[in-house]
Amino acid sequence: MEQNLREFGELDFELREQQPEVDAACKASKKGGVRNAAAEMLSTEWKKLWLDAMGLQSSLDNQKALLEEMKRLEGWKWEDWKERYVEWNDHAKARVSDLFRRIDRLHTGNVPRQVFIDGIIGSKFPTSRLEMEKVANLFDKGDGMINAKEFINALRFDSANRNAKPQTDTEKITHEIERQKKTCSCCTPYQIEKISENHYRFGDTHIKRMVRILRSTVMVRVGGGWESLDEFLHKHDPCRAKGRLNINMFPEARPTHALDSMRAFTKNRHAKEAGLPTTGTPGPIMKIREKTDRSVPMSGGLGGTAGYTVTTTPDHRPSRIPRAPSDMSAGKLSRVGSTSNSKGSLFDSPSRPDSRASSEAGDKQQTQQTRIPSLRGRKGQRYGLGLKFQRFY
Ligand SMILES: [Zn+2]
Repeated sequence: MEQNLREFGELDFELREQQPEVDAACKASKKGGVRNAAAEMLSTEWKKLWLDAMGLQSSLDNQKALLEEMKRLEGWKWEDWKERYVEWNDHAKARVSDLFRRIDRLHTGNVPRQVFIDGIIGSKFPTSRLEMEKVANLFDKGDGMINAKEFINALRFDSANRNAKPQTDTEKITHEIERQKKTCSCCTPYQIEKISENHYRFGDTHIKRMVRILRSTVMVRVGGGWESLDEFLHKHDPCRAKGRLNINMFPEARPTHALDSMRAFTKNRHAKEAGLPTTGTPGPIMKIREKTDRSVPMSGGLGGTAGYTVTTTPDHRPSRIPRAPSDMSAGKLSRVGSTSNSKGSLFDSPSRPDSRASSEAGDKQQTQQTRIPSLRGRKGQRYGLGLKFQRFY
């Protein structure tokens, strides 16, 4: 084989060397305007020679590939193939039974050997015809048929076996990293290089990252925290990071901790807001109602301080009745009864928020230090007014 290739290389070289000479001869014959039979023949023969050479080259290439594949398959083991195939199926979320349902046209449970081989090759599983012949040999009982159930069971037994075998954490990490490496489809595969036990280098960076197992998930140390290996690769491996922004793919490019500090900030803000009276916070009407329900007992007594609540006379303040007059003054006489007596009625519920909202703004102002008391008071008032408008117009 080696010699064949070498000889072919020499032939190819000679052909190329003599090409100008032949070209010149052909040209010269045409220039004279006289058809030179010898030149024509030379030209035709020369072309034929080239075609033969090309045919020889492709057949040599095929033979070479076949030899390489045979070499690769020398120590071929069903277990290795099985593991690869089961893993590939996991990754592709394909089911072998689906494959058989597709290729077993007659639903006999038996598939002709060639159909089986074509089916698996057609499913894009990286294998070769030569390798598939070896697989088929294991299941072909001499009748040229592959039994689907037998094949699937053989795979299943293996996957159970595979789950039983793990291992120490380090072995699990190595196994998972190898598995993830195989799923990379980049032209130049994404590099994951083991530096020491539990330390790996990812991609082109020189950052050494710690890797460990946390509740059976492989985690990668990122910044001050941990990220699952899968998540990490979806950000950094180009073939998995489709549609992502560069800033996500290359976190080194942005200020360190930029994202982290932002997250922390938002969290704190939310926490504070939850603790504070939400009186001044702009938001839907529902929000105001929520808060006012809490402050029912105080609304009467302190309502006036907000500057808005329309509690009328001092005698009325301690009870909930005082708010009835406010409604009355607003021209909703018919509702007075319901406002003061039936708390849960649908009808009067919209009338409560505004007066309570403002009154609470008032009492919070007194009982609790807010950062900008005056603003909160005014805001509450504004909301009260907004509600009124909504109600009456
Ligand atoms: Zn990749």
